[in-house]
Amino acid sequence: MTGSSDLHPDTVAVRGGRQSCSPALAPVVWASSTFVSDSVDEARQAALAVGGDRFYSRYGNPTVNDFERLVAELEGAEAARAFGSGMGAVAAVVLGLCSQGDHIVAARQIYAGTQLLFQAVCPRFGIDVTFVDGTEPGAMAAAVRPGKTVLVWAETPANPRLDLVDLDELGAIAGPMTVVDSTFATPLGQRPIDHGVDIVVHSATKALAGHNDATLGVVATSQELVQWLTGFAVLQGATASPYDAANGIRGIRTLPVRFARQTGTALELATWLDADDRAANVRHPGLPSHPQHDLARRQMRLTGGLLCFDLPGGLDAGRRFVEAVEVAQLASSLGGPETLVTHPASTTHVNLLPDEMEAVGIGPGTIRMSIGLEDAADLRADLDRALSAAAGG
Ligand SMILES: *Cc1c(COP(=O)(O)O)cnc(C)c1O
Repeated sequence: MTGSSDLHPDTVAVRGGRQSCSPALAPVVWASSTFVSDSVDEARQAALAVGGDRFYSRYGNPTVNDFERLVAELEGAEAARAFGSGMGAVAAVVLGLCSQGDHIVAARQIYAGTQLLFQAVCPRFGIDVTFVDGTEPGAMAAAVRPGKTVLVWAETPANPRLDLVDLDELGAIAGPMTVVDSTFATPLGQRPIDHGVDIVVHSATKALAGHNDATLGVVATSQELVQWLTGFAVLQGATASPYDAANGIRGIRTLPVRFARQTGTALELATWLDADDRAANVRHPGLPSHPQHDLARRQMRLTGGLLCFDLPGGLDAGRRFVEAVEVAQLASSLGGPETLVTHPASTTHVNLLPDEMEAVGIGPGTIRMSIGLEDAADLRADLDRALSAAAGG
């Protein structure tokens, strides 16, 4: 199968990514780190072939290449390159495409690891980063410095408040390359390239692999940029494992049904929470009360399994809530079968000052949930119990 499929995404998810496994029906793990050549000429050709998968697995590997082709096809991209984690993919795009003296415009609302890369690593290499409010119309375009800005970076929906960036507006920015971290949406929720965006990044550790058993990242873009990124990736060494790539292919087989079910349950629970006084500021892009609900309807097919809200009781209430849940579990990550809760103020963002936390949209009582595949009534009963525990401390 090629990247020009006219099949629907649900079908591509089931049928794609099989080039190297025929006649096996399930993905085949090519565990070998190296490949035997018959001649010097063949070895030289294998080493130089872009996208080659029979030379040495840091350059390319048949199982990893199958995963890459599957993601490219789902995103409507010409090609893709897999990495050993989402941050491996993020770092390759940033450090593989930017040089000393270059400028990046980034939405303020992004994953904490990406933010740290921009704030702590980019300045060391002379790369200047300007943060703007990604929800404000025109803000990203206005921050572009013609001839200087190389990347415009957005995440939508974004950690943790599920803020959105307008993909049409981003895709229309001329000059720099535009990037979307589309981890929360998956290709089933939105396709940034259809809106003119140049590069799509995923932490495939999350919903794509989808079972919390793979650490994996991927970049989908043009053939030309994948060739360039591959040149960097071979030296960066954040190579995807064929075992994780096989789990990625296996996960994507069921992504359409998992993602649809998670979206449905998240919307049901968010609606229920929205009507409950014990939770404030309930956020999910599919809720009519989301400030960018119209934009969500325009650019998202499915709004995904993430939701967040604030507990009026603040820090102590947040701690009580995440320790009181019994069906949901306290763990970082998202997009898997198990419902996970996090309390950023006491975990991932514990080192930030109160005003720094507020700037990234996190309050002392903010709870983020990744809704899994459990029965919705069981989850609602669990939330009900944990909300009472949070309120009654
Ligand atoms: C988890 C995550 C990442 C980083 O991915 P890893 O696989 O953990 O390295 C990047 N962006 C977003 C939006 C994420 O949720």
